[in-house]
Amino acid sequence: MIKKSKPLYYLNFILFLFFGLIPNLKTHAWGFHAHKKINRLAVFCMPYETFGFFKTHIDYLTEHAVDPDKRRYLVKGEGEKHFIDIDYYERVLPFDTIPRSYSKAMEKYGKDTLHANGIVPWNIQWALKNLTTAFEQNQEQKILKYAAEIGHYIGDAHVPLHVTSNYNGQLSNQHGIHGFLETRLPELFSEDYDFFVGSANYINQPLNYTWEIIENSFASLDSVFYFEKKLQEQFPEHAKYTYEIKGNQLQKVYSKAFSHQYHLYLNGMVERRMRSAILCVASFWYTAWVNAGQPNLKLKKLPRIDSSEMDLFPTQFPSQMIGRQEY
Ligand SMILES: [Zn+2]
Repeated sequence: MIKKSKPLYYLNFILFLFFGLIPNLKTHAWGFHAHKKINRLAVFCMPYETFGFFKTHIDYLTEHAVDPDKRRYLVKGEGEKHFIDIDYYERVLPFDTIPRSYSKAMEKYGKDTLHANGIVPWNIQWALKNLTTAFEQNQEQKILKYAAEIGHYIGDAHVPLHVTSNYNGQLSNQHGIHGFLETRLPELFSEDYDFFVGSANYINQPLNYTWEIIENSFASLDSVFYFEKKLQEQFPEHAKYTYEIKGNQLQKVYSKAFSHQYHLYLNGMVERRMRSAILCVASFWYTAWVNAGQPNLKLKKLPRIDSSEMDLFPTQFPSQMIGRQEY
């Protein structure tokens, strides 16, 4: 969470007195906006034999793209599925220290270390297995649940700040950069991105493919930190942030000028990562379906699933995630 300065407390108090607005400095992950967009657009990459099924349930897949983040507030052990602090093991590319397979990594580091530093690459393999089984067993609700969720974890693996222990700039005086990169920038600029990414591919080696995603995310980290630091020097504090009303809440956000300049410096990186995530999500969905023996989804009667039908989450969430706080 962004540290409130003293004047900010006064401002919050005044706003509360006069307008009844509740100031909130929190944001949500790839933001909810980007996660939903990635799942939604992945549907349009699906090959003909599966397109009808995914298109029928596009609203469900969109809405439930963020379920795993909701679970982080409720379930111990969920948080570590969303990230990997790869800098605990590796300094430079290509990775040559951490074993790619979960069993070999467990042998080398032990469960406590491995899980404390995040397990997203392996969690994607488990999610793929669950999705494949659901296709094999023709369990429509589970297909949708696991398809929505693997989309989330693949999305997270594409975010550079999900592969570093400095995940919110807390080690480099860049606090707040997590939400800035994965929420604020896509919200401001993704409408102009080119999201035509082609058709899903069959993935021969999902684990290796996943590690390539992690390596690519890691490769972007230098620019993510360097350019934000550079802009900090160019922008005075008051020009770096502004306030925007979202719902009935007043949020402190990075200013449009600061965001615009940062986005320019990143030179298309956010767009490239989102494009890659969309194609990758569709390709994992397609791979699960092929590995399940290509069940005929077209012949099934497919009533639209009410997007709240499998939503077991409470309406009120605890104020903090369990474990690591990303914002
Ligand atoms: Zn997440």
